Amino acid sequence: MTTTNNIGIQVAKQPAKPCTDIHCPYHGHVRLHGRTFVGTVVSAKAAKTATVAWERRHFIRKFERYSRRLTKLHVHNPPCINAVEGEKVKIVETRPLSKTKHFIIIEKVSAPHVRFVEHEHLRKKEKMMADEEASEGKKEGAKKGAAKTTSPQKKPEEQKEEKRKSEQEEDTSLQ
Ligand SMILES: [Zn+2]
Repeated sequence: MTTTNNIGIQVAKQPAKPCTDIHCPYHGHVRLHGRTFVGTVVSAKAAKTATVAWERRHFIRKFERYSRRLTKLHVHNPPCINAVEGEKVKIVETRPLSKTKHFIIIEKVSAPHVRFVEHEHLRKKEKMMADEEASEGKKEGAKKGAAKTTSPQKKPEEQKEEKRKSEQEEDTSLQ
């Protein structure tokens, strides 16, 4: 008779049917400890293995902006969970199960997960701030007439802004 172990982490729903996998946190003999992530299954072709990926933000100091980077991991996919490609899953770290696997899928996440929502929120906020800066820059440029010299170290966005300003100047001189 198979019993369901207490994995020590609260999940929305435990697997409905038991499995015979020894590397299953619910029905096998592995303990979960360490980091937890939520990602999307990008491949589930290998037996009891899935590739999970998620996006993270990497800050670049020089440009004071973030670049989008992808983390991709091989994770254990127990038969009782059997996540398929495109599904969002929660993974928890464990002891190494093979050369490349040291995470296990513990549940499928149906609702958009918190990190993603936070991410979208930050992106919107950043965009709003950038728009505000741009509009302020335009006003100043119209007042002063923008007589700045371009240096090669300028960021591409600043160069664009100055180009716009110089175009505005030309417009006014034509009138
Ligand atoms: Zn199981």
